[in-house]
Amino acid sequence: MNETQPLLLLENVRVGYPRLDGRGWMPIVEDLSLSLARGDIACLLGPSGCGKSTILRAICGFEALQEGQIKLNGKIVSSSSIQVAPNLRRVGMVFQDFALFPHLNVLDNVVFGLRALAVSKRREVGLAWLERVSLADKAQAYPHELSGGQQQRVALARAMAPEPDLILLDEPFSSLDIDLRERLATEMRDILKSNDVTALLVTHDQFEAFALADHIGVMSQGHMVQWDTPYDLYHEPSSRYVADFIGRGVFVPGTIQDGATVEIELGRLQLDNDHHDPVGTVVDVLLRADDIQHDDTSPLLATVVRKTFRGADFLYTLRLDSGLDLVAYVPSHHDHALGEKIGIRLGVDHVVTFPK
Ligand code: ADP
Ligand code: MG
Repeated sequence: MNETQPLLLLENVRVGYPRLDGRGWMPIVEDLSLSLARGDIACLLGPSGCGKSTILRAICGFEALQEGQIKLNGKIVSSSSIQVAPNLRRVGMVFQDFALFPHLNVLDNVVFGLRALAVSKRREVGLAWLERVSLADKAQAYPHELSGGQQQRVALARAMAPEPDLILLDEPFSSLDIDLRERLATEMRDILKSNDVTALLVTHDQFEAFALADHIGVMSQGHMVQWDTPYDLYHEPSSRYVADFIGRGVFVPGTIQDGATVEIELGRLQLDNDHHDPVGTVVDVLLRADDIQHDDTSPLLATVVRKTFRGADFLYTLRLDSGLDLVAYVPSHHDHALGEKIGIRLGVDHVVTFPK
C-alpha cells in the first residue's frame, strides 16, 4: 500500500436525485473534491439540507454518481459507470439515529458485522471494542437500557469492529443533550485517534466540527466553499458566507488607508502584508465577538442593547452612538444592565476584510 496516497479521494463529484416529475435530475452535490489522508479526521460542515448526508451515502455506495469519481486506497469505487457494492468498500457508517438493533444486546450489536469470524473470536473482538469505548460492563444490556451517549458509543464500536479503512459519521451528536456533546466529541476524537481510524463526519454544528476535526470543509448548497483547519477557518474565512457561518461577529464599514491600514469608526487597524486593495477602497471589516474587549477604563463607550448569558461569559450586543452594533463576549462577572454604557476597546489580532 502506498503511504502517501490519500485514503479517500473525491474528484469533481456530482450527485443528484431524480425530479419528481420524472424530468431529469435535481443536482444536490456539485463539483465536490476532497482528499483525506490515513489517520485524518475531517468534517463537512454546513446548514441542514446542503447535501451532507447525500455525500456520505455516495461514499458508502448507497448513491450513484452522475459525474466525477470516488477512490478508496487509490481504487475507483464510484464513478458514472462504476459502483462497487457497499459491503466491499471497507467503509463503516454511524448513522444519525445510531440505528442499533433493538432486539440484540450490546455485544451482539457490536459483533454484527463480524460474521466471517468463528463465534469465540467474534466474542473476543466484540468485548475488546466494548472495552475501548468503556462499555465492557454493558455487554448484555439492550439498547433501550442505555443512555444516548452510551448508545452512540455502541454504534461507534459496531462500526469500528470490522476494522474498516474509513468511518463515516452522520451528525453523531445531534440527538444528544447539548451539555453532553462537547465532552462526547472530545471523547470520540480520543477513541478515533488512539485507534488510528480515518474518519469523515458531517454536521451543522460548528462546535462539534471544531472539537473533532483536523480539517473542515464548509458547505453551501452542495458546494464546498472552504477547506481548512478549524483555526484558519475561524481566523481567515475566505468569504463572507464562511465568516457569517463560523463564530459570532459583525461587519463594519472601513476604508483602506496608507501604510496597509484600514480606518473604521473605532480607529485604525493594521492589515496583513499580503493585503493589496488600493488606498480609498471601501471594505467591510469583520469584527468578531472576541475582537471587542470590555474595559471599564476605556473612554470609548457603547450601550448594552441585548445580552445572552452563556455561563462563563455574556454575549453582549453593544451599540455605538453612531448606531453601529457590535457583539462582544464579556466575562460573566461583568453583569451590566440593558441600557447601561460600558467601556470597550478593540483587540483585533488578525484583520479580515471583504470587498463592499
Ligand atoms: P443534509 O444532510 O445536509 O441535511 P441531505 O443530503 O439529506 O442534506 O439532503 C440534501 C437535499 O436533497 C435536500 O434538499 C433533501 O430534501 C434532498 N433529498 C435527500 N434525499 C433525497 C431523496 N432520496 N430523493 C429526493 N431528494 C432528496
Ligand atoms: Mg443530513
